[in-house]
Amino acid sequence: SLDITSALLERIEQDNVRFLRLQFTDLLGMPKNVAIPAKQAEKALTDGIGLDGSSIEGFARIEESDMVLKPDTSTYAILPWRPHENAVARFVCDVCKPNGKPFEGDPRYVLRKVMEDAAKDGYVFNTGPELEFFLFRMVDGRPTTQFQDGGGYFDLAPTDLAEDVRREIVLALTEMGFEIEASHHEVAESQHEIDFKYSDALTTADRVVTFKFATKTMALMRGLHASFMAKPIYGINGSGMHVNCSLAKDGKNAFYDADAPLQLSETCMHFIGGLLKHAPAITRVANPTVNSYKRLVPGYEAPCYICWSASNRSAQVRVPAPRGNSTRVEFRSPDPTCNPYLTFAAMLTAGMDGVRNRIEPPTDVHKNIFHMTAAERNQDGIPTLPGSLYDAHQALLADDLICKALGPHVVDALTTVANAEWDAFRTAVHPWELDRYLAMY
Ligand code: GLU
Ligand code: MG
Ligand code: MG
Repeated sequence: SLDITSALLERIEQDNVRFLRLQFTDLLGMPKNVAIPAKQAEKALTDGIGLDGSSIEGFARIEESDMVLKPDTSTYAILPWRPHENAVARFVCDVCKPNGKPFEGDPRYVLRKVMEDAAKDGYVFNTGPELEFFLFRMVDGRPTTQFQDGGGYFDLAPTDLAEDVRREIVLALTEMGFEIEASHHEVAESQHEIDFKYSDALTTADRVVTFKFATKTMALMRGLHASFMAKPIYGINGSGMHVNCSLAKDGKNAFYDADAPLQLSETCMHFIGGLLKHAPAITRVANPTVNSYKRLVPGYEAPCYICWSASNRSAQVRVPAPRGNSTRVEFRSPDPTCNPYLTFAAMLTAGMDGVRNRIEPPTDVHKNIFHMTAAERNQDGIPTLPGSLYDAHQALLADDLICKALGPHVVDALTTVANAEWDAFRTAVHPWELDRYLAMY
């Protein structure tokens, strides 16, 4: 580690880096950072840098607020949109207590712990998210919901005015070490998707956070607002963060079995069984805003029922066609407002429960579920996802296994946030109510 430190110090010097950003996320998955002059690099890399945890959402109470940021040396990256002379580099950090022990409220630690537990059975959890977002116009320095373009799925110029912005986002991410697999216009006007190559879930979660702030930054430099809100506009598609995931064992994809039905291994089937069993609780972290639940409604390619299918896009869990090393399960309910660390931690906990306890998933659904009646769904045993942040939070509290994986600190903090959000929403008088009732009564 002394070697790594001195190699990094040399690199920082060579790269002309004058500032370091020490990055971490709060409970909501919001990126936070503190900038230090590069001269402090050695101290930061050996002792860490202090922070006041009581000012961070979901972190500590005032009486135990001293914390230390410890840079993860594998996450060094130059911020490509900053000047190349006197450059800025960042590290993703672990949050520790003054005694050097990991802080239980650090989402990165929560995911690491669950991954270490799966590693006891020899499994590595790989995830590959598909982030969707809107590019909106800014007016007088404020984001609006005005479309920047009128394109649709896979459209190209001249409809897709956002091509240049997307190109700049892709170039910036590539410079930061992302392997971009595809970028395209999504279904809705002004909606886009950029996909990057899967990796272990911790690396991927770091990248999701980086992806969001890099995208926002590049958009802003063109005078646009990139929004990852789940359902910014009523009546058209919302933005999802479908998570492709698989387990690897001994360097091989553990979801593939050439001889099994659908070529899906028992491990894969049980993983799906676990995901579906814990789906209501996972929803609390995968869909963490009041607005998230406006996306999970029929008719917009977002799931609302708990079921799986080998192909059907209306199902929560879909198995995309590729097999062999690309065999994976697509978990379609998460949206990009989620904290990726907590979401992957909950997904892996659920999946491993399935694998360890051999949970068989129900039979897969072939019909378009959006066209089924409630009675038909009932008959086929297809439950509905929680319909609100309130319901989802209750489902989390009722799920001991997921609560245990997140840990009491995080569950308490999530409870505080859910109560406050829900109360504020529940008691507000929305424009819809005025439209509906003001004249009528
Ligand atoms: N935008 C849709 C969602 O809310 C997904 C569209 C797609 O299948 O890529 O999840
Ligand atoms: Mg998509
Ligand atoms: Mg998808």
